[in-house]
Amino acid sequence: MSKMTELEKHRRYLTEALKASLEDDREVPVGAIVVRKGEIIARAHNERETDAHDPFGHAEMLAMRQAAKMLGTRHLRDCTLYVTLEPCPMCAGAMMLAELEACYFAAFDPRQGCCGSVYDLTQDPAFPRHVPTAGGLMEHQAEEALQSFFAQKRTGAPQEGTPAQVCEKE
Ligand SMILES: [Zn+2]
Repeated sequence: MSKMTELEKHRRYLTEALKASLEDDREVPVGAIVVRKGEIIARAHNERETDAHDPFGHAEMLAMRQAAKMLGTRHLRDCTLYVTLEPCPMCAGAMMLAELEACYFAAFDPRQGCCGSVYDLTQDPAFPRHVPTAGGLMEHQAEEALQSFFAQKRTGAPQEGTPAQVCEKE
């Protein structure tokens, strides 16, 4: 078998994150996985709306917490996060606190993305730790999932807004 290219590897992991994002159709479809040494050690989807009642229940937070518990350390230095939507300020900050090795995300979030869209928190020289990030891989699949989620919501209960306003509604 030929060696996977870097790009193929990222696509494979983002596909897993996309699968995770669709696991609970009551939640905004965002999914995240944590990969360490080629192994998926944590996976999560948003858990905010349903039984969780958790304002901070973003997929990234849950996946990083799972990974740290599993590894028995709060440092995720050799871990990479794959997430279907660009991390918000909370999650980008959490990535820095966890000393994550890197983060790859699918769709950009023009409303509150903090890995380049609204702001590039993880590269701000004011902070001591930085996390390399890259986005835009498989963004169409991730955007489609978000768009169909909000289209369905609109059909069920009419509300203003477009999928681009995802974060305002969150
Ligand atoms: Zn977040």
